[in-house]
Amino acid sequence: MSARPDRSAKRRILLADADAFYVAVARLADPAGAGQARLLIVGGSPERRGVVTSASYEARAYGVHSAMPMARAVRLCPGATVVPVPWDACAAKSREIGAVLRRFTPAVEQASSDEFYLDLSGTEALYGDEALAATAHRIRQALTTETALSVSIGGGTSRLIAKLAASLAKPRPGSDADGVRVVEPGAEGAFMLQFALADIPFIGPKFQERLARFGLQTVSDAVRQERETLVRWLGEREGTWLYERIRGIDRAPVEPDRDVKSVSRDETFATDLDDDDALAARLLALADRASADVRAGGLVARTVTVKVRDADFTTRQASRTLAAAVRSDRVVYAVARELLARLRAARRVPARLLGVALSHLAVADSEAQLSLLEPPAEHIESERDRAISRAIDEVRERFGRDALGRGGQARPT
Ligand SMILES: [Mg+2]
Repeated sequence: MSARPDRSAKRRILLADADAFYVAVARLADPAGAGQARLLIVGGSPERRGVVTSASYEARAYGVHSAMPMARAVRLCPGATVVPVPWDACAAKSREIGAVLRRFTPAVEQASSDEFYLDLSGTEALYGDEALAATAHRIRQALTTETALSVSIGGGTSRLIAKLAASLAKPRPGSDADGVRVVEPGAEGAFMLQFALADIPFIGPKFQERLARFGLQTVSDAVRQERETLVRWLGEREGTWLYERIRGIDRAPVEPDRDVKSVSRDETFATDLDDDDALAARLLALADRASADVRAGGLVARTVTVKVRDADFTTRQASRTLAAAVRSDRVVYAVARELLARLRAARRVPARLLGVALSHLAVADSEAQLSLLEPPAEHIESERDRAISRAIDEVRERFGRDALGRGGQARPT
C-alpha cells in the first residue's frame, strides 16, 4: 500500500463563472458609451421594454436585478445607461472562455453562457501535483489575459461544492475574495454549514416551504437530523437527496459539451398559478432567458417545448418543431404561448412549475444568422434553407442525431 493518500477516488471539479458577464461584455463592446457608465443596465429592447438581463454592481445597489421589467429598473435607477445585450459579442466571449478552459482539460461542460464546469480529476501528474487552488489561479489569470474578463472559480470534489465555492469567490465590493475558492477534500461538511438550504441548487421556494414546516432553514438545522428523520418527513428520495447535499455529496458528473442537446429554463412557483395572464407573463420571462442562452451559445433552435407540472405533480409537455431554426425571443414566445394554450386546454388546473426548452440546436453560421433573426416559419427562402441544413448537419456531427438531451433539468440562474 502506498503511503500517499488515494486521490483517485476524489474528483477535482471547478466551476468558472464570469463576473457580471453581460455587463462586462457590454463594457468591452462599448455601445452607446457603455464602457464608461458606472450605472449600467443590460437587456430589453431599444424601446426599453422587456426585462433586465444583467446590471452593474453599482446599479444593483439601487435594487435593480435580472429578470426585472426594464420599465421598473429605469424608475429605480434613473441615471443608468441602458443598452441591449450585445449577443454576438457575448457568444464570441463565451467561445473564447471555452477555448481557454479546454486547454486545461477536455472535460469542460458549459452550463450557461458564462458558467463552465471543468473536471480536472487525474490531471495531478500533468500539473506536477499542483494544488487545485493553484491550477484555478492559473486558469483565472489566463482568462483575464486572453478574454479581458474577470472570472471567479470555485472548486471541490463535486459540482455542488464548486458551485457554492464560486459564489463565495466573487470579488464583490466590500469582500476580500480574490476570485478563487477551493474546498479541500474532507472539508465539505464544514464548508456547507455556512449556507441556507435555499442556497443549494434545486431547492426552490416550494421545497423551502416544506422544509421550513419542519424547522429547517439552514444547512446546520438539517445536519442535526438523522437520515431516517429526513426520510420520514420528506420521503425516501428527497430525504436521502437532502441528507447527501447538506454534506456536500453530489455524484453528478461533468458532461462535456457534446452531450448538450437542449437549453431549458424552468421556474417553480412560490404558490401554484392558475391565472392565464400570470402564466403567460412567466412564460415570456422563461422564453426570453432560454432564447438568450441559445443566442449566447452562438446557436439556433428548431424545437420549442413547454413543460407544465400540475398542482398534483402530473408533468405534461408539448413540443413543436419549426421549419426554420429560430433564436429570437419573439418567435420562441409566440410558439411557446400556443403550446401552453394547448396544454391548458387539455387540463386546466393550477400549475406548480413551468418550463421552456429549446432543442434541435444548430450552430448559427454567419450566413444563416443574417436571415434567421426573426423568420416567419412559413416563409423559407431556399438559400436560408440550405444554410439551415448545413448548420443542422454540423450540429448532428457535433451532438449526435438525437434532438432532446438532458432536457428538463433546471439550470441555476
Ligand atoms: Mg456569472
